[in-house]
Amino acid sequence: MSAFRAILLDLDDTLYDHHFASRKAIEETISLDDALLAAGADKVEIQHRHWLELLHLDVARGARTPDDAREERWTRILSHFGGNVSQGNLLASAQRGNYLRHERPVPGAVEGIAALREAGYALSILSNNTRLEQIGKLERLGLIDAFSDIVVSADHGISKPDARLFHIALNRLGVDAAETLHVGDSWSADVEGAINAGIRPIWFNRFGAKAARSGVSEVADMRELLPTIGA
Ligand SMILES: [Mg+2]
Repeated sequence: MSAFRAILLDLDDTLYDHHFASRKAIEETISLDDALLAAGADKVEIQHRHWLELLHLDVARGARTPDDAREERWTRILSHFGGNVSQGNLLASAQRGNYLRHERPVPGAVEGIAALREAGYALSILSNNTRLEQIGKLERLGLIDAFSDIVVSADHGISKPDARLFHIALNRLGVDAAETLHVGDSWSADVEGAINAGIRPIWFNRFGAKAARSGVSEVADMRELLPTIGA
């Protein structure tokens, strides 16, 4: 085992394949509105991502429920494309059902987590979301028992990259920043947040994006994580 004892892990798009389920669900949901269907999945996906990220800031700090954010998101998307804005609620619930049918772990995540557990690392989720949402995802992926703890932004009213959220996770695990790694896909929330907290980041970069700066370790597949840190 390396000098590290504990690993904090982001959930969405690090272990849980939000990107995949979201795209599949958009392709199905746009069939419910002629204006969205005419715009096509690529354009709707760009708007969807924009409103999801914006409204999720409220969800992450516990100021808005996920259901409320979903309806508002779809009402805004319908408005943008000249669709029937009174269908916001209908499309939100259709999208939710479609999304859940397509949910899956990020390829390699289940195997990667199992290897880290086997190697004796203490693992905690550190996520900008609500507890109920994230526990549901971990249960459905069969990953809930792999984690010693789950720290979510909405419980504390602060979100990554705020160093205080990282320090809460360290305190709860009983470990120091120097013996802990943080792994996540978001450069701004995960990499910069970990650096703010004095924790070594590992950027999960599965789509080969360009790093904002050099000197940060990265993996493209969670199965590479143990070989990377164990070496
Ligand atoms: Mg993420």
